[in-house]
Amino acid sequence: MKFIDLELQYQRIKPQLDKALAKLFVRQDFILGKDVDVLERRLAEYAGVKHCVTCSNGTDALSMALILNGYGPGDAVFVPDFTFFSTAEVVAQRGAVPVLVDCRADTFNIDPAALERAVERVEQEGKLTPRMVIPVDLFGLCADYRAIREIAAAHNMAVLEDGAQGFGAEYEGKRACSLGDIAATSFFPAKPLGCYGDGGAVFTDGDDTAARLRSLRVHGKGKTKYENNSLGLNARLDTIQAAVLNCKLDLFDEEIGLRGRVAAWYGELLCDEVKKPEIPAGSRSVWAQYTVILPDYVNRAELQELLKASGVPTMVYYERPLHLQKALAYLGHQKGDFPVAEYLSEHVLSLPMHPYLKREEAETVARFLNRFVRSYKASEL
Ligand SMILES: *Cc1c(COP(=O)(O)O)cnc(C)c1O
Repeated sequence: MKFIDLELQYQRIKPQLDKALAKLFVRQDFILGKDVDVLERRLAEYAGVKHCVTCSNGTDALSMALILNGYGPGDAVFVPDFTFFSTAEVVAQRGAVPVLVDCRADTFNIDPAALERAVERVEQEGKLTPRMVIPVDLFGLCADYRAIREIAAAHNMAVLEDGAQGFGAEYEGKRACSLGDIAATSFFPAKPLGCYGDGGAVFTDGDDTAARLRSLRVHGKGKTKYENNSLGLNARLDTIQAAVLNCKLDLFDEEIGLRGRVAAWYGELLCDEVKKPEIPAGSRSVWAQYTVILPDYVNRAELQELLKASGVPTMVYYERPLHLQKALAYLGHQKGDFPVAEYLSEHVLSLPMHPYLKREEAETVARFLNRFVRSYKASEL
């Protein structure tokens, strides 16, 4: 069994993909070609926003959103402590300060109450100006945008949705990547909608914002590439990757359903000694990861070895919360600063998850996980 197995998906898209690539290789529109235009229209419609601007990867998508806003030294951008490094990295790269915020143990997402406290603390200190919050749709579940947007509005901050793991998810009748003032996603192969290399996209309802993003991804171009109006990036999505994504998008809704089915199997089969993910009313997760929280008496590293020996691959997302990352040591945090994120980083375990995981495989995962967890419990008593 593989942690993520997309071989079957490839077999399904192969006929269409072969055709699309053959045409592309004849057209030779490798950069910002026809498939990119088609994809951008389809993605914007899917997310329910006016514009999608594809780009080189999810990290650049986040960066582009920040560059547009001109944030830099003196600006505070609030990010969850329990996420992939990119979310904070892009803020620090701009010279702004990533202000870390603890998360909720039940959703893994940024805790609105902690966000409010962090914003107020920054305001009281008076050194930085709160500008933006970047909620992350971690593991495929949208953050609590109703609460976050209220806080952002009260403090005059923008919301940048990090939907790198969330594309396809739903929140209160809206789709992921439509929930902030601007949103970013990633098409890294392991994401729910992944390409065959690196890729990403920015989503916005603003005509002017979209035009600026299109300029930004091609060296701040004006009417032509050789007229440069601002300092930009080389951050385009390859046409080849767009062709892959167009094929995968045809299957995407069906695959979200299949992911949901795998999650439901786990929910049914896993023992109650592990804490299973809860999906709040009004949300639909896209199950980028199926992540459980292990009880204290389990030795996680040892459990992973036991599972591996039984043919069950697992991953830990994330071993180290951002405040304990060396690259962010200059923020001056120490162990104990974000107790929920620390607790999660020590107790989470992600299980095999992909649309084509079979019922028997979910049963195997559950059988071994339940057995090992219960044997830890027994030796504890
Ligand atoms: C994957 C990911 C990114 C970065 O996407 P890349 O395409 O790998 O650059 C950013 N934020 C989160 C939460 C992610 O999971």
